[in-house]
Amino acid sequence: MNIILLGPPGAGKGTQAHRLTEHHGMRQLSTGDMLRAAVKAQTPVGIKAKEVMDRGELVSDEIVSALIDAELEAMGDDVGAIFDGYPRTAAQAEQLDGILGKHNRALDHVIELEVDVDALVKRITGRFSCANCGALYHNTANPPEKEGVCDQCGGTEFKRRPDDNEETVRTRMDEYRRKTAPILPIYEERGIVTRVDGMGEIDDVTTAIESVIAPA
Ligand code: ADP
Ligand code: ADP
Ligand code: ZN
Repeated sequence: MNIILLGPPGAGKGTQAHRLTEHHGMRQLSTGDMLRAAVKAQTPVGIKAKEVMDRGELVSDEIVSALIDAELEAMGDDVGAIFDGYPRTAAQAEQLDGILGKHNRALDHVIELEVDVDALVKRITGRFSCANCGALYHNTANPPEKEGVCDQCGGTEFKRRPDDNEETVRTRMDEYRRKTAPILPIYEERGIVTRVDGMGEIDDVTTAIESVIAPA
């Protein structure tokens, strides 16, 4: 099973991708997470990507596609992939077709999380994560059960992304509108797009996605 989660910044892609890995033994392939790891490790890719990410613009297609290719190469053939935040341009969509073909994989579903743009800024500026395990939280919509303690691992340190500020968010939304939304028709022609309401409770969104990937 290979699925793409598509939607603007803050739509809930990371939150949902993480839950699917827990429920279905699939692997989350987030180019954003890979790039942040590269920035932290100060690899050549990370050094090149940092300023672009801080501005909210898109990193080059070649860089992100190479990251995805390397991850799939390292993964067992029988492990399903959830693409989170990739592809984001028409060129990446084309590169993904080539990469999947090379690894004998085919796309099963593209799930578009539909959200109200006004809600996104609130979601993003309230987003934080566990510094230890990466679990995602939100100040008001999804705080840890016990304040200051991660539900998943008991960690007590949390962090916020440097690009989760209002100004950068606007640039990221623009990038989505201009470069990412236009790739949907490519997949619509293949009949594999399903739209899911991303404005509901986190659990309800998960249920809706699960009914697409594993219909009862
Ligand atoms: P969000 O959670 O807001 O959707 P991500 O974590 O997916 O954001 O990405 C953060 C940043 O990393 C993006 O703003 C962009 O600079 C870079 N990035 C991530 N994925 C890609 C991609 N597929 N193509 C180009 N740039 C990317
Ligand atoms: P993306 O990966 O698409 O950028 P995230 O999964 O990181 O989005 O979610 C952005 C923020 O919104 C996080 O703080 C997360 O806890 C919160 N969030 C995710 N899904 C929902 C939802 N259905 N309702 C309310 N808040 C949500
Ligand atoms: Zn944790």
